[in-house]
Parts: sequence; structure tokens; C-alpha cells
Amino acid sequence: MNRSVLLTAAVLLLVSACGQPDHPPDGYGGTVILISTDGAHPSYLERVATPALDRLAAEGASAPGGMIPVFPTKTFPNHYTIVTGLYPVSHGIVGNSMYDPELGRRFSIGDRSAVEDPAWWLGEPIWATAERQGVRAATYFWVGSESPFSGIRPSYWHRYDGSVPNADRVDGALDWLDLPADERPRFISLYFSHVDGAGHRAGPDAAIVDSAMVEMETLMDQLLTGLGDRGILDEVNIIWVSDHGMADLDTKRFIFLDDYIDLDDVFLVETGANLAINAKPGTLDAVFSALDGAHPELTVWKKEDVPERFHFGLDRAGSHRITDLVGMVSDGWFLRASREGFNPSRDPGGTHGYDNQLASMRAVFAARGPYFRPGSTLAPFESVHLYTLMAHILGVEPAANDGDLDVFAPVLISR
Ligand SMILES: [Zn+2]
Repeated sequence: MNRSVLLTAAVLLLVSACGQPDHPPDGYGGTVILISTDGAHPSYLERVATPALDRLAAEGASAPGGMIPVFPTKTFPNHYTIVTGLYPVSHGIVGNSMYDPELGRRFSIGDRSAVEDPAWWLGEPIWATAERQGVRAATYFWVGSESPFSGIRPSYWHRYDGSVPNADRVDGALDWLDLPADERPRFISLYFSHVDGAGHRAGPDAAIVDSAMVEMETLMDQLLTGLGDRGILDEVNIIWVSDHGMADLDTKRFIFLDDYIDLDDVFLVETGANLAINAKPGTLDAVFSALDGAHPELTVWKKEDVPERFHFGLDRAGSHRITDLVGMVSDGWFLRASREGFNPSRDPGGTHGYDNQLASMRAVFAARGPYFRPGSTLAPFESVHLYTLMAHILGVEPAANDGDLDVFAPVLISR
């Protein structure tokens, strides 16, 4: 045995003794594929056969009790928390709909000019953290990925187009992994909206939700098979999450704001499961008094009185986007501006946006790959910690954030 072979053997021994090497190797190690199935509740996994999805938990880490989303349990705040490790008040996306008094502009998720405007996105996403430190990133859709952060975009990204077939998105991710090493991304995101869509249309217990989960199972199988065909299934780290759960609605559980206040006194920013309204000058106290205690299933706070557990602090980068009044309704209730257009005989389906501690709002978490201990589990944890986990695997220095990597100690293979 010559000297270099001996040295190689010694290095291999050292690497295997320590678990993961300190710096990810040039191959596929230190790769993260982050997948979101919007609106998937952990209980959905028990309703249909999901062997590919179950493999993630069996051969990796999972949170059987689910992952805790952030308030409000809406899509945009939660997806951006997952990739920034910041509470919404710090990353700026405090709702799916917002008003920024400094910009003098409104934000809504369907408004392309707002979604692509860097002024709204205040926290550094993981793809910018990675690219800033020389690690390529790619997004086949993710909330916030269509706007550059401090001028930084993922090396590869797509403008959101819900009509792109889900299977094409998986193929796109696999194509990125086939790129030469110096062009290949080590962070890849995938996003699927169809489970959320089914839950909204017919409620979380509907058969179309089962069908949507069967499709998600097929997509995960497609990904695992594609990785297996390339011989890299055990080299990459897959993190599968959702942003929030889903609650069943009933027309008997509707509350109408104009039963209590004059809508001319306020600017409605968000209604539904949660409430965000600004008062017109001079009307705040009257509007608050009219809503406070008005209905047993409605809770309203002035923004300075929102309980600390919701992390709506007034000293953070996005605090000015918190509305004068913040509120929410009880699980399965729905807040509407008025009865106009309300049809009591039409199934209202399902929604989310409620208290983030509710069981119905729990999100999914499972992760498989060289960093995760097979069959390991976590008690329910907040999604705000995921950013530190991804930075750890990518081997990049995280930006300032609200997360804590120690949360994952029970499931991480020690280094
Ligand atoms: Zn969502």
C-alpha cells in the first residue's frame, strides 16, 4: 500500500468516524430539496396509502404530532418564515393581503407587481444566503423567490405558473441535479398547491383531498425513483413540509362584521379566519369597542395588545404593516364583511389562518437523507426553525434569524 492510499484510507476513516464531513463534498452531499405541499395536514397521511411519503419518516426524521405554523396561518407568511427563519413581523409578509403605510401600497398574492417587488420582502431567504456564499440555489416555485433579495436571485428560478403540471416540476428538479457539478444547485425548492386547493373547495374531510394526497404520493415516488435511478437517493437531503393545515367550514359558523361596525369606518385588509383592519382617523376606539366581545367566537386586539406568543412585536422590520386591529375567529368559524354575496346553502369548503396553536392548523414535516437519523422523531416544533436546519446542511452561515438549530438535535446525525 503506497503512502497516498494510506492517507486516503485514513481520511475516509476520519470522515466516517465523525459522521458528516465539516464541509460538504463536491458530489451531492450537502444538497437540500425542500418540498412544500400547501395545506397538507398530518392526518391526511393516515387516510390513503402513501408508501413513498411514509418512507421519508421511516428512513429519516418526522414530527408525528405535526409542525407548528406561524400566525396568521396563511400561505405567504408561513412559506416565507420557512425559508427565512423569521417571524412574519420580521420578514415583512404579515398576511396574504397587506397594506404598507410607508410605501402607501397594498399587497395581495395575485398581484404580480407586488409579489415581484423587493420592497415587500424584508428577510433573507435561504437561497440568497446560499448564493451569497457561493452555493447555487434553484426554485421551482416558492413564495418570495420571484423577487430579488438585495439583488440576489437563485441561479435558477421560475415565475409562478400554477398551470405547470406537478410532475414537470419534479422533472425540473431532477434535471437540475443532472447539471455538471459547478452549475448544479445544492438547494432546490418544489411547491405544490393542489392539496390546499382541494381542502379549500370541499373541506379537509372530503374525498378530493384524499385524491390530492394520492397525487402527492405519486410525485414523491417520482422524485425518490428519479434520485434512485441516479444513484443519489442516499446522498441528498429531502425536507418535506406544508405551510399550515385546514379547518372545515359551515355556513352556521359565519360572523358578519357589518352586524357590529360601519364598514365605512375601516379599511379591511384581511378577513376570513383572521382579521386585519385599519381604522379611519378618529374611529379606532369606537371600532375596537364595537368588536371587542361582540361575538363569543371572535377575538380582537389593538395591535399593541396582541399576545406575545403570536410574535407580532412592534419593534421589528415589518411592524408598520400590522393593522390597527388584529383578530381571529375560533376554529372552523369564518369572518365576512357582510352578507352580500353570502349563500347559506352552498358548502363553504375549508380554510386556514386561525390560531397557530390549533391542532387543525398543524403542518407536515418529514426529512430523509444523510443528515437525518432513520426513524427519529420530534415533538411538534415551530416552522421558524427550518431555516437554521437548511443552512446547517448547506454548510452556509445563516443570516440573523429567530430559529434554533438545537431543536433538531434528536434527529440530526451528529457531526
Ligand atoms: Zn397555504
